[in-house]
Amino acid sequence: MDEKKHSPIESAGSPGKVYLVGGGPGDPELLTLKAVRLLGGADAVVYDNLVSAAVLAHAGKQAELLYVGKKAGNHTLPQIDINQLLVDLGRQGKQVVRLKGGDPYIFGRGGEEAETLHAAGIPFEVVPGVTSACGAAAYAGIPLTHRDHAQSCLFVTGHLKDETCNLDWPTLARPGQTLVIYMGLTSLGQICSQLIAHGMPADTPIACIRRATLPDQRTLIGTLTDLPGRVASVGFKPPALLIVGGVVTLHDRLDWFSAQFSAQIVAD
Ligand code: SAH
Repeated sequence: MDEKKHSPIESAGSPGKVYLVGGGPGDPELLTLKAVRLLGGADAVVYDNLVSAAVLAHAGKQAELLYVGKKAGNHTLPQIDINQLLVDLGRQGKQVVRLKGGDPYIFGRGGEEAETLHAAGIPFEVVPGVTSACGAAAYAGIPLTHRDHAQSCLFVTGHLKDETCNLDWPTLARPGQTLVIYMGLTSLGQICSQLIAHGMPADTPIACIRRATLPDQRTLIGTLTDLPGRVASVGFKPPALLIVGGVVTLHDRLDWFSAQFSAQIVAD
């Protein structure tokens, strides 16, 4: 039997290694088999606030759990210290899972962590995860591409550094595409008005999906004109994604997930 293949993680005494692992958007069943195997055998799991409790529950009992926080504008541990922590744990010979929400290489700063590990000579691997755009699209019934609505899809971040809005608005406002905006909740009003100012019709449908794939997922649908007001009136807080474009109109028919929960509430 191939020992290595069947052991949850490399045996103790081997040099340390850091695994940058995508934890997906929240539903633990969206974890990869590789993520589950690595979590089960890790000596240390370094995670942030986007990692759901149900995902973290896959860490083995022996694992030291290290919370490093991370919310827009409010980092519990600065990125540079997170990078150093990973290097230190690797140097101690530990098998480390750096567990990140969604996919490590999509707005997750996984690239910076991998660069630091490379520079320090610490062996690492990257395990992709379901990015929240894909999780939200699937669970809110909004296909990101569709032959009737969008032939391309852009992932952008709405997190505005120093309050300045440096997105490429003319490109974002083009027809025939879907926009997915990560970290766009606080600048939602500005995003909608800029898209309209750059030629996107004011009645373009837009969805805001909060805590996608989790049992308390909520979706608000509106237009570029009225969604900011609706979101403000219900007091949505991050994490939430924005999806803009004709594909949003499919939500009415394809929203299998919340339909499942309302059916359950009726049945209870
Ligand atoms: N690497 C992550 C993104 C990190 S940036 C990924 O691939 O998904 C953080 C942003 O991701 C949040 O502000 C929010 O816009 C989005 N996000 C992450 N998880 C989410 C979830 N469950 N529901 C909605 N948005 C989510």
